[in-house]
Amino acid sequence: MATVFLAGGAGYIGSHTAVELLEAGYEVIAADNFCNSSPESVRRAEQITGKTIRLYDADIRDTRRLAGIFQENRIDAVIHFAGLKAVGESAEKPLLYYRNNIDTTLSLLETMQQFGVKHVIFSSSATVYGSENPIPYTETMRRGVCSNPYGWTKAMTEQILEDAAKADPSLSVVLLRYFNPIGAHPSGMIGEDPCGIPNNLMPYITQVAVGKRECLTVFGNDYPTPDGTCRRDYIHVTDLAKGHVKATDYVLQHTGVEAVNLGTGTPYSVLEIVEAFERVNGVKIAYRFGPRRAGDIPEFYANADKARELLHWTAEKTLDDMCRDAWNWQKQNPNGFRDSE
Ligand code: NAD
Ligand code: UDP
Repeated sequence: MATVFLAGGAGYIGSHTAVELLEAGYEVIAADNFCNSSPESVRRAEQITGKTIRLYDADIRDTRRLAGIFQENRIDAVIHFAGLKAVGESAEKPLLYYRNNIDTTLSLLETMQQFGVKHVIFSSSATVYGSENPIPYTETMRRGVCSNPYGWTKAMTEQILEDAAKADPSLSVVLLRYFNPIGAHPSGMIGEDPCGIPNNLMPYITQVAVGKRECLTVFGNDYPTPDGTCRRDYIHVTDLAKGHVKATDYVLQHTGVEAVNLGTGTPYSVLEIVEAFERVNGVKIAYRFGPRRAGDIPEFYANADKARELLHWTAEKTLDDMCRDAWNWQKQNPNGFRDSE
């Protein structure tokens, strides 16, 4: 079976993808500098699957280090998760974001070229559609104007990969545009483990539920949506991880570039998420309404047709599954992976 190299593989999506790849029979190698993760996530992925993952403590920008990893292993495909992802921080520290997220991409592509590795999947984001495109977002739409440097690193990386594939027709690239991944592996052994105050909705809710935060602030209740709060396309991280397995199957068999949305196609509002979390888990979430968050748009969700047709993948889990599994992870690991370090 083919070997897949996960750059940034100790992170939230990387660790869940490692589990699904191993369960599908792929060999998995991972490298991470743990700037936003812990090696414990990879150990837990091994425990869930009963299989081993060769894990390197390495900065993906370091081409010498990467060359060593590619020398030691016969790598068939690369999944590029390695990036900084906090939208607000990217506006405060744009150079840090451009340096990290673009350099990781260039180093990976140069090393792939050096070792003749032709298949790459990139963790892109729905943010590349910008705010002008109509919803639902479809892959045939042009990339839009991003509202922050993080978004631009995703748009730029897509462009870099497209240019690389144009210059080398034997290259095979899948740009996976994630919508809003939430939840955790049903075992509760791996999950989202943000450092400090969570930026994203679901980890904030689970931290309120576990008593680490007092109250959720709902950013805006005067949007032109049914209940006035923003609507997003939330997708269970295990479904998302399975989408990577399908994308790996695909990328190994084709050449050229394909952008593919990974979403459910169904949006939910912030208040619907809070309501579902409370109902499914039998806990109360204290919340108050606050001002809108800069850069938020009222609503977006995926047209998920291309993923179904090209990759033979559709999201299967419900919002209730997402809420149950997010809470199961947080309850069992109130301090994330830090308890095991
Ligand atoms: P994460 O922070 O949990 O995972 C990213 C991993 O990359 C971390 O383990 C981090 O330590 C590592 N990393 C960062 N820079 C590195 C470097 N220079 N060298 C080595 N390792 C490095 O985030 P995630 O949620 O798992 O996201 C994975 C990818 O998907 C990211 O590129 C992110 O931008 C993208 N994405 C995430 C979301 C989301 O909502 N989680 C949505 C769209 C896109
Ligand atoms: N949100 C919120 N309070 C929070 C975090 C997020 O009301 O503490 C809202 C946010 O305004 C957005 C939705 O929840 O409408 C999802 O936000 P998240 O940051 O998780 O994803 P993004 O909007 O960046 O895709």
